[in-house]
Amino acid sequence: MTRLADTAWPSVARLANAGAVLVVPVGACEQHGPHLPVTTDADLAVAVAEAAAAIDPLLVVAPVVAYGSSGEHDGFAGTLSIGRDATEQLLVELGRSAVGTFAHVVLACAHGGNAAPLRAALDRLTGEGHPVTGWWPRWGGDLHAGATETSLMLAIAPERVRRDRAAPGDRRPLHELLPELEVGGVRSVSPNGVLGDPSGARAEDGWALLREAAADLSRTVARLRDGAAAAGRSRPVDRGEPDPEDDEQGSEVPA
Ligand SMILES: [Zn+2]
Repeated sequence: MTRLADTAWPSVARLANAGAVLVVPVGACEQHGPHLPVTTDADLAVAVAEAAAAIDPLLVVAPVVAYGSSGEHDGFAGTLSIGRDATEQLLVELGRSAVGTFAHVVLACAHGGNAAPLRAALDRLTGEGHPVTGWWPRWGGDLHAGATETSLMLAIAPERVRRDRAAPGDRRPLHELLPELEVGGVRSVSPNGVLGDPSGARAEDGWALLREAAADLSRTVARLRDGAAAAGRSRPVDRGEPDPEDDEQGSEVPA
């Protein structure tokens, strides 16, 4: 598995020259009920990206975008939101920069509240001709800090789940909640911050969801890589010659 965090630039250049696609996990820092850490969305975005990278040596995982648009969780301690405009601009600048190295870039987002700024950023990036794509896991299930996200966190970081504090919140579906959420945020419908019911959460269910999402992400990446290769996408900057002395990633990169 290749993380940018473990990789020096000559190795990055070699991966990019071999057609690697960059996946940027996009998360948030916001309340996830009384039992899950506030970094849950960022943790899940990283977990999916890394699980996909584990089955695809030409999928490179970028450091996570750990903050996003979380205004709907205002009023809960630990929610650190940078808002819609800043999230959009951050993703636009990141995308513009990343396509200087990689033939395709995927913004893999695990926080529903980032959907609007992410779509706006993708519109701008694709309008400028940049090969940047958005991807979302389709977890299904309940909405926020319920059985779905709790199962996922039990799979990847059980030591950070406070099961003894897990309690149901508002269990209505999104279309029923939305009018109230738009006016008063999560605080107005669920005092404990949960939208769903975490009590039936199981690590096995989390692993199954994670595997499914990772397979979907790796298929998406493979398709985009093939498309970039077929288009003979030229790189806008000189990314350096492969370094024959550099074998950090050598065993992982197909010839
Ligand atoms: Zn979440």
